[in-house]
Amino acid sequence: TTINDYLRQYIRTVPDWPAPGVQFRDITPLLQDPKVFRVLIDAFVHRYMDPALRPDVVAGLDARGFILGAVVAYELNVGFVPIRKKGKLPFTTVEETYELEYGSATVELHADAVKPGDRVLLIDDLIATGGTMMAGKKLLEKLGAEVIEGAAIVDLPELGGSDRLRAGGLPLYTLVDFA
Ligand code: IMP
Repeated sequence: TTINDYLRQYIRTVPDWPAPGVQFRDITPLLQDPKVFRVLIDAFVHRYMDPALRPDVVAGLDARGFILGAVVAYELNVGFVPIRKKGKLPFTTVEETYELEYGSATVELHADAVKPGDRVLLIDDLIATGGTMMAGKKLLEKLGAEVIEGAAIVDLPELGGSDRLRAGGLPLYTLVDFA
């Protein structure tokens, strides 16, 4: 079986959460089993150990991107920086607001988190509309960094987010697609 099918078995679908009609893809079972967790992390680590793709910094999106991003950064022997929901970071920040289905959201990054010219890997658990990852890319670019790729466990391609991100100049690497 391919890694795609192997990991898919450990993603739990929770119907009608957090709202009626939503099929929430829950990645926590992937983290819970040590063997599966290692396969998952190694998939990212092997890709980004390649000198052509090795980042200077890994940036993780609040909150499941922290779990993945921190471990990947540690294995690559590079630093990790968190992109957080507004109001959590204590030092000077840059911020980016983006539209949600209902309302908007704001994410922040410490102003000294990356340097101009840094090559950054941006990581989250899942890409839906792509709004969160696009906001993260913009924050990193405000500080002069280059986002070399976006990585996630799950893509929901029917929502069009991954197409929009690629069209917006962000290469993507995802492990499992769900219709
Ligand atoms: P987007 O901004 O619409 O692409 O939504 C992606 C963000 O929302 C990511 O930070 C995800 O963690 C979260 N998210 C949206 N839908 C799901 C889901 O079904 N499972 C897990 N996270 C989700």
